Amino acid sequence: MTVSIDNDGRGGVTIGGARYLLIRPETLAAVQKAIEAALGPRAGECLAAGGRAGGARATVTLTGTTEERARQLAATGAAIGWGQFTLERLTSDGLVVTVRRSPFAEAYGPSPAPVCHLTRGVLEALAGVTLGRRAQVTETLCAAMGAEHCRFEARPA
Ligand SMILES: [Zn+2]
Repeated sequence: MTVSIDNDGRGGVTIGGARYLLIRPETLAAVQKAIEAALGPRAGECLAAGGRAGGARATVTLTGTTEERARQLAATGAAIGWGQFTLERLTSDGLVVTVRRSPFAEAYGPSPAPVCHLTRGVLEALAGVTLGRRAQVTETLCAAMGAEHCRFEARPA
């Protein structure tokens, strides 16, 4: 699936008509570390909330079956540089997604805990649609922890 990124030459970048912006991963990593310094473990939930907000906007534009919508979101994730998304499992009671080359993990550097909270939030929004009810996503593997890839598991909340 091809995702078309349109730059209007007047400071606006859109994908499928939705406004996007490019930002260096290091910028987000610095924001994340500053929030963590201020809030501690609650920082991750703040970032996930941001991911959920963006993900909710993204998921309403998806069309087709549940699996087709999940694959569209995965393709968009790759197109906008959030890493290489693979839909490992999609059932009525769960969703498993792996992400290779997460820019969040790469920019953050080594961590004893998962760091890809923005991706987690987006996947919570997606899982809410695919599971038909509110979902909680856990990042069970993270490249920042030394794993080969990041892995996200969604379950109904
Ligand atoms: Zn990660």
